[in-house]
Amino acid sequence: MFTIFPAILEAPVRESLLGRAIAERLLEVRIHDLRTWSTDHHRSVDDEAYGGGPGMVLKPEPIFAAVESLDPDRGRVLLLSPAGRRLEQSLVRELAGEEHLTLVCGRYEGVDERVIEGLPAEEVSIGDYVLAGGEVPALVVIEAVTRLIPGVIGKEESHERDSFAEPGMLDHPHFTRPAVFRGMAVPEVLRSGDHGAVERWRREAAREKTFRNRPDLAG
Ligand code: SAM
Repeated sequence: MFTIFPAILEAPVRESLLGRAIAERLLEVRIHDLRTWSTDHHRSVDDEAYGGGPGMVLKPEPIFAAVESLDPDRGRVLLLSPAGRRLEQSLVRELAGEEHLTLVCGRYEGVDERVIEGLPAEEVSIGDYVLAGGEVPALVVIEAVTRLIPGVIGKEESHERDSFAEPGMLDHPHFTRPAVFRGMAVPEVLRSGDHGAVERWRREAAREKTFRNRPDLAG
């Protein structure tokens, strides 16, 4: 991962799922400060936009040098960008099959367009809104991909039934103890011990929830 704010990425990769996956050597994450590849004495990585405008643009030279320093292991190069292909579980599955991924985090007005055509880099968006930088989107990509690496998630927390595991279907509702909380009771069938009935209830509840929350998916 290349960023001008490595500290934003360092703590999250030490914790929880990502931290465990790294400790168990199921995943390796390298965070690089893009300024390492800056060639001037100010360590600058950005410059004014051609054509004018208030914001700065990340320069192509440090990004090309940084990504090329990984060769031959750069793998697919992803540039986080709100103008990119939207990240969905199908893309997450694709990326989880890759040996190496290189993520480039933009800042300010974005990144010189020649990075996209010249490296080349695939633009990936985490949704139709604009954040200040690509670091949080990069973490989103890494966490989603890491969950699909074999061995990262145990059987007790299987992702086979998660939302989107089956295209166009959300997960079913979940309940735990107590059986009644503030007058709201857990559906009787889930306490019946009848596995067939539980399975049928879950499928139907997942279908209803998908239709209610995401009619666009339900078609
Ligand atoms: N001018 C750009 C535009 O309108 O498309 C927005 C630049 S944004 C302020 C700065 C950086 O944040 C981007 O280069 C990108 O790396 C990251 N970013 C912001 N929103 C994002 C999103 N929804 N998905 C992925 N990256 C995003």
